[in-house]
Amino acid sequence: FPAENVRNFSIIAHVDHGKSTLADRLLELTATIRRGGPAQYLDKLQVEKDRGITVKAQTVTLVHEIDSKPYLLNLIDTPGHVDFSYEVSRSLSACQGVILLVDAAQGIQAQTVANFYLAFELDLAIIPVLNKIDVPTADPERCKDQLQNMFDIDPDSVLQVSAKTGKNLPELLRAVIEHVPPPRGSKDAKLQVLLFDCFFDEYRGVICLVEVINGVLQKGDQVISKASGKMYDVLQVGVFHPEPVPTGSLHTGQVGYIITGMKTTREARIGDTFCRTREEKEVEALPGFRPAKSMVYAGLYPLDASEFDLLRIALEKLTLNDASIAVAQEATAALGMGFRCGFLGLLHMDVVTQRLEQEYNLKVVVTPPTVPYEVHHENGTVETISNPSQMPPSHEVASILEPTVIATIITPQEYVGGLLTLCSARRGEQLEYTFIDDARALLKYRIPLPEIVTGFYDELKSKSSGYASLDYEEDKWVAADVVQLSIRVNGEPVDAMTTLVHRSKSLRAGKDAVSRFRDILSRQLFQIAIQAVVDNRVIARETLSAMRKDVLAKCYGGDVSRKRKLLEKQKEGKKRMKRVGNVEIPQEAFVGKPGRS
Ligand code: GDP
Ligand code: MG
Repeated sequence: FPAENVRNFSIIAHVDHGKSTLADRLLELTATIRRGGPAQYLDKLQVEKDRGITVKAQTVTLVHEIDSKPYLLNLIDTPGHVDFSYEVSRSLSACQGVILLVDAAQGIQAQTVANFYLAFELDLAIIPVLNKIDVPTADPERCKDQLQNMFDIDPDSVLQVSAKTGKNLPELLRAVIEHVPPPRGSKDAKLQVLLFDCFFDEYRGVICLVEVINGVLQKGDQVISKASGKMYDVLQVGVFHPEPVPTGSLHTGQVGYIITGMKTTREARIGDTFCRTREEKEVEALPGFRPAKSMVYAGLYPLDASEFDLLRIALEKLTLNDASIAVAQEATAALGMGFRCGFLGLLHMDVVTQRLEQEYNLKVVVTPPTVPYEVHHENGTVETISNPSQMPPSHEVASILEPTVIATIITPQEYVGGLLTLCSARRGEQLEYTFIDDARALLKYRIPLPEIVTGFYDELKSKSSGYASLDYEEDKWVAADVVQLSIRVNGEPVDAMTTLVHRSKSLRAGKDAVSRFRDILSRQLFQIAIQAVVDNRVIARETLSAMRKDVLAKCYGGDVSRKRKLLEKQKEGKKRMKRVGNVEIPQEAFVGKPGRS
């Protein structure tokens, strides 16, 4: 296929607007997979199937003919979720155009806005498409108005499709071929290859997804990484159709995979440029990507301490495939040995812990999520703290910076009041308040990230009956009056419960923590004092009085098997207890609030 017959495109949309379903239909339409096969073909991970979300971006090559001319279409499926906008932007850099998909019943949502701007900034061709027009509540005219108001898109250029019934999909493929420009590279120029994603395959090792920007890449070529200077032999080249199919070469503008004998995905630097070893000096590096940064941290501990090694091995395997998980070993008095892990966001954290359960059969305790803080010491040094209990004493600290995000919220007008209150309670600073049509508002706020990771999304959903949508992007770090809040049980600090909170919130947080702790602790034979402490001052306290009756008293004279069952249950419970001083604490006390999915 000459480059002028190649189209590299992606589908971008708010979550649930139908990207994966549309991708499936396009695969069927081009006879890449057979009709009636498994749904969401490109969603390969079990968590993706369970949650119906796309986590890893996938790539597939389709062949489609119009006016009896064959075209090679490379479809790059992107995750639509806010945590993964990093993956969206790197997938987009291998494209020349996008299908901007909007659910015709829902209209423009927060991630539609974020994704539009990602594509717009990369100068990609944008094909506006309304999906789900088969749904009775679909309101295409309102959606077209919104597209025009928000993005200046001509209503007449908007296609209306149904990924469910297949309506207008051939027209959509035609629009892709007509409106997405072919890749710009030249086959005669020196080889220049963009590495835009990678994953680990148990049998084949590291598989790199690449776009050949210039020249032709062949099996047997020797290439060099511009980022690391390491040399690799190209052992295999191919495309996904939809399974990997070796092709021996990739021509200018084509998207496909290469296998090079890399050992781990950490070696594959996303955004890297490969060129021929002997042409290293003459070929320039493509503009790279910024590396993914951990924005949410949590401790992961095995529920059963004897499974520590299994957890270590499982995390090693997961990070082989997902280099965006940061892992460091840590130990706390209460929970024993475990790992401090960094994630792109809350959903990413949920997905990883779910994969540990599903793919490795491991039960883990996940401590409440925290964010990194930048600590400026009195002596001038700066460090990033990812574990609240490592915060240095306040007299050594000159200032603490917290990360903030720019949050975009789209909501029906009737919920605006409640959401303004929510955002200001979360220390938000209003940047924009506009209307996208006569009934829907767009709010833009700068909000500290610690406020976002502590249940912001759940509150947003409950204050808007589920109708508001949220997207956010990292913004600057700002100085904040942050204090360390620790919990003591009978005078002993419970290190795994230490958190960092804004001073204005410390009293509330302290009270909540001790009362939650009191409800969870089982009564024991002595009195227990639970205290919340800031700067060595007790700011909240609860007391749990001593227990009188033992478990078996309840079934005095009862039958033996019932007694045994109770004792067994108690033993089972014991395994899950952690001891702090002389107090036994059930593991659930350390578990973070459930995520937001
Ligand atoms: P994604 O999150 O954007 O990948 O969305 P999915 O493809 O997973 O679709 C979300 C839901 O919308 C699924 O239940 C689909 O079956 C449904 N869906 C997708 N396209 C259509 C459509 O054109 N019509 C109808 N009625 N439902 C659709
Ligand atoms: Mg999907």
